[in-house]
Amino acid sequence: MFDKILIANRGEIALRVIRACREMGIASVAVHSTADSDAMHVRMADESVCIGPNPSADSYLSIPAIVAACEITGAQAIHPGYGFLSENAAFVQVLEDHGITFIGPSAEHIRMMGDKITAKETAKNLGIPVVPGSDGGVADFATAKTVAAQIGYPVIIKATAGGGGRGMKVARDESELEVAFRTARSEAKAAFGNDEVYMEKYLQRPRHIEIQVFGDGKGNAVHLAERDCSLQRRHQKVFEEAPGPVITPEQRARIGKICADAIAKLGYSGAGTIEFLFEDGEFYFIEMNTRLQVEHPVTEAIFGVDLVREQIRVAEGYPLSFTQDDLSINGHAIEVRINAEKLPIFSPCPGKITQYHAPGGLGVRMDSALYDGYSIPPYYDSLIGKLIVHGRDRPEALSRLSRALGELIVDGVDTTIPLFRQLLEDPDIQTGDYSIHWLEKWLAKTYG
Ligand code: ADP
Repeated sequence: MFDKILIANRGEIALRVIRACREMGIASVAVHSTADSDAMHVRMADESVCIGPNPSADSYLSIPAIVAACEITGAQAIHPGYGFLSENAAFVQVLEDHGITFIGPSAEHIRMMGDKITAKETAKNLGIPVVPGSDGGVADFATAKTVAAQIGYPVIIKATAGGGGRGMKVARDESELEVAFRTARSEAKAAFGNDEVYMEKYLQRPRHIEIQVFGDGKGNAVHLAERDCSLQRRHQKVFEEAPGPVITPEQRARIGKICADAIAKLGYSGAGTIEFLFEDGEFYFIEMNTRLQVEHPVTEAIFGVDLVREQIRVAEGYPLSFTQDDLSINGHAIEVRINAEKLPIFSPCPGKITQYHAPGGLGVRMDSALYDGYSIPPYYDSLIGKLIVHGRDRPEALSRLSRALGELIVDGVDTTIPLFRQLLEDPDIQTGDYSIHWLEKWLAKTYG
């Protein structure tokens, strides 16, 4: 059993982990940059340590500072949240060397899934269906041309080291290929320090469906169904729901079993998400995230489980607290990501919160680190809150979301709240008829 856990993160996800710790009787340590000394996660944790100046490279990403904070406070384990060091295999290795438990999978599994080509190869070998594409990296334009001709246009060129929706370029035909290939490479180099790219068939109207999995590291694993995260802007999710509005129980059982079996076979430990594109009844693997996802609360809502508690228990060496048969879906949940951004171009909008009021009532969860008078610093991600609603079915969840958005007040900065109020009026959102390209088209139509 852990007595004390350090949370190597900030914002709403740090609070999320502190809350789980408190319910389990585990003391929590917050770390923070100088800009965050007044942040809610610092106030809420049992202890806090300043680990460096404002830029995340010098604080939230500083491995020596975080390890030192563990040693000073006597924390036995680290929860990484999402982003920052959550998928950094070198960090996990350093923790192992210092006898600190990482609440997450092994460095080996993080490495395996962090490189997208290796991830795809591993997925294929484990019987997971993948998007047709190049076998590994595409070294030059001549090879790109050959591969594109084989898989057929349109194609998408993606960075091997990619993440966060960056470094992807689409070519609709051969005339677009050269520019797309070269831009993808130079963007990959600039963003990830690695210019290797690979190619996939570009699916025209898929949905983004991801399967939540959980392994105990000893060869047992379960799946917790899917989340539909098709509503994206620039390949980034803004609205997520579970279960997926168009996934049948048979499709869920089939892909869920494939994923759980793969995770069991890998001996994977902790929470993970296997992401797919879904088109015409078929699933195509795109990547696996070896951490807790931003959108995990929708899964918690429909299964009534605490995924962070489960992560901590598994890291402590306990078996999973549920079997596949224990897990059944109850109702429908939706999450919207509230960002401090100015519409219509979504430019970051840090600043002082003059008034904050969170919605409440049955089936409403607001995960946010905001408070009245808080100043959102300009150095980090613009996510300031997640509103999650749960209803007996999708129509109930939608009307609850509309009601909760009406109660939510965030004054002092621009936010994406008006976007969701408007989105809810669209018939396609009401019926769930959307693909990964829907939102971009809607934004172009609505905001010009
Ligand atoms: P990242 O790690 O940068 O998030 P992913 O591989 O997970 O990259 O892809 C992110 C998003 O990009 C997907 O959810 C989807 O919207 C789009 N995308 C990725 N691959 C394809 C593809 N083969 N066809 C169509 N869209 C794709």
